[in-house]
This record gives sequence, structure tokens and C-alpha cells, in this order.
Amino acid sequence: MKAVVFEQHGGPEVLQYREVPDPKPGPNDVLIKVKAASANYNDIWARRGLPGVKFDMPHVSGSDAAGVVAAVGSEVRGVKPGDEVLVHPSMSCRACEACTSGQEFFCRDFKIWGFQTGPNDGGHAEYARVPAVNAVPKPKNLTFEQAASLPLVLMTAWRMLVSRAQVKPGDFVLVWGGAGGLGTMAIQICKVFNARAIAVVSSDEKAKRCQELGAAYVVNRSKQDVAEQVRNITNRRGVDIVFEHVGQATFPTSIRSLRWGGSLVTCGATSGFEAVTDVRFLWNKQLNFHGSHMGNKAELLAALRFVESGHIKPVIDRVLPLKEVPQGQELMEQDKVVGKLVYVPEAA
Ligand SMILES: [Zn+2]
Repeated sequence: MKAVVFEQHGGPEVLQYREVPDPKPGPNDVLIKVKAASANYNDIWARRGLPGVKFDMPHVSGSDAAGVVAAVGSEVRGVKPGDEVLVHPSMSCRACEACTSGQEFFCRDFKIWGFQTGPNDGGHAEYARVPAVNAVPKPKNLTFEQAASLPLVLMTAWRMLVSRAQVKPGDFVLVWGGAGGLGTMAIQICKVFNARAIAVVSSDEKAKRCQELGAAYVVNRSKQDVAEQVRNITNRRGVDIVFEHVGQATFPTSIRSLRWGGSLVTCGATSGFEAVTDVRFLWNKQLNFHGSHMGNKAELLAALRFVESGHIKPVIDRVLPLKEVPQGQELMEQDKVVGKLVYVPEAA
């Protein structure tokens, strides 16, 4: 099959579109003919390489995919060839104490599919092999492109806001990167819970998209001061929740924007890991800091119900042929993407 693969870390030039061996499903696996896959920032982290993280080469990225089941292993029940599915990208043993208590991200075998799996084990390919428990029925109201755009960002944003920060009606939620993959989901989740998203964006075009998605307020950080806008919008009280994933560049503003007793929840740090925290605010204002990483299958399924009901909509920037992954990664690195980039294999 054809896949986008790299054998050494570097810039987009290390990505090759070429033949790799077809995946072989084990007894508990399904083989999916990929109809669409999507782009995540972790594709770029893997390609660049991360200190202390070993990637199996050749590496196929892609933690989101949707397609049609082409074959199932001998032990698989409940999924059959022809089923339309999307991939739940959290891989774990499904048997240990962490897994059986709904905390699969604490499993000793936990891996993000298409990021930590390999060799040749990700969604940017014509076929994908995943454990049958990771194949989730595709919502019927979605195209394959729409379905492939959702799982990782939807589940991550849902866990951050609903499970960790416990968003409530009326809450002010400061959403960094409002027009990005995570941000567009966060805005819509806030709306589901009758919370008020304050979306931070870098252009007027992105501001418009966030308003269409239901952001109560939008701050254009290229011409407005975020902390000052938050003070104005919340009448000096501060926000109940900050939705963080930028890190170093935004952390001090995030902390300053919280109300007394407010919660910061973070799932990443695209601008750098050395985020400064003035701990006086932490104790004096009795702030809550929550780390969050991916989500469990129940969280994905809970969030997908709001997709089926039409309350949460996929946001796709553009659909590219699979072989254009290098171009897609450059667009993401230049911050030119609204919502998600989707890749479609030639034979899909
Ligand atoms: Zn486990």
C-alpha cells in the first residue's frame, strides 16, 4: 500500500510518499481501508523528533482516520467487513486496573496511535490495522472526511473541559487558539454546556469563524491585549476556566486571566515547555491546575453523541490528497489552518 513515511527526523523534506508493506491484522484486530485521515500537531512533533522519545522507523504518522472495515481477525466480534468506522486513537492493554477503571491513559502500555506506534503504524496510509476495540462506528450524519477530522481533538477537548475542568453553565472560558483543531471543538463544547467561550485568535478571518461556531466573545491577539480584554469582558472578575495548549508564550497571561478559585487545564505546549508560573497567584487566589492527555473511549463516545445530534460540527480547513502531507504540515507550522486538515488517499 501507499503511505506517507519518514525514516529520519527533520523538516517536511524527510516525508516520502511511497510503498510500504500492507498491515497484517492479528486475531483481535481489524483492517480498515482508509477513506480519510487528518493532521495533528503530533505528526510534526514526531517528524521533528522529541528529546527522550524513540520513534520506530519507518514511521507513518496519523492519529485520526475513518474508513471501511476490509477484514477482521478470527477473534473479533461486533465489527464486520463493510462497517464504516473511525479510529479511537488511544491504544492500551484494556485489561489492567487503569484501563478497566476508565483511565486508559495511565496504562503502562498506553500509546497514541500514529504517534508512538510503529513501524509503519498510523493513519496516513491506504490501510490501517487497529485493535477491534479501537474501531468506533462512524456517526451516520458525517462524511468520512468529517469523521476523520474529529476523534483526537474532540476527545481531548471534551476531557479537558468536561472531565477535568468541569465546565458549568455561565462559566467564562478563555480558549487559546480558538480557530485551531482543539479550539473549534472547545468553543462548541462550551456552547453545549451553556458556558461562554472567549476565543483568542490571530486574525479577523479566524475571529469570524469562531463567532459562527458560537464563541460568545473573540479577542484578536494581533491587535488587542488579551488580559485587558478578559478584564473588560468579565467585569474584572476573570475567567472560570482557561483552555491551554500553547504553553510558554501564553501561560503568564492565562494565570493572570483566571478568577479567584479558577481552573487552568492544559494538554500541550506548542510554543515551549518552560512556562513561567508566579506561584503567589496559585496559593493566594487558590487556583486549580489540571493536566489532561487524550481521553478514554467513553469520553469519545459521549462527545460523539453531540456530533450525531448536530450540536458539535466538524470544522475542516481543506481536504488534500494524502501525498500532500508535507504541504499540510507546512500550513500548520505557518499557523494558516482553521479547524482541521484532512488527507484523502488516491484510491479512497
Ligand atoms: Zn492497561
